[in-house]
Amino acid sequence: MDWTQKNKYAKEWRARHPVQAALIDRRKALKKYGLTEELYNKLFEVQKGVCAICGNPQRPVNKFRSKLSVDQDHETGAVRGLLCCDCNIMLGHAKENQSTLLFAINYLRNSPGVILEYK
Ligand SMILES: [Zn+2]
Repeated sequence: MDWTQKNKYAKEWRARHPVQAALIDRRKALKKYGLTEELYNKLFEVQKGVCAICGNPQRPVNKFRSKLSVDQDHETGAVRGLLCCDCNIMLGHAKENQSTLLFAINYLRNSPGVILEYK
């Protein structure tokens, strides 16, 4: 069986077994962070099933699964917690720079337009 045939067979198997395929994908994704399903579930439980930043619940990824993203310190590799997609992207856009995030908070509280009373 060549690569094309194997790929076709795998696609067909995934289409016939969507729940198992989603489980395999999930285990692969967790393994990337050194997590098991059990550790993910412990984090999920500690966070009461919501994003560690905004508190929003997890959103469905597709009809077979939903998730909060695993947030990892990219310097140390340590898992920090579980985040919704928006908060995970926000940290990424801020390059995880705490000063940038603090300046953003200050900006929201004291933006020049508000100080000058532009409406
Ligand atoms: Zn969030």
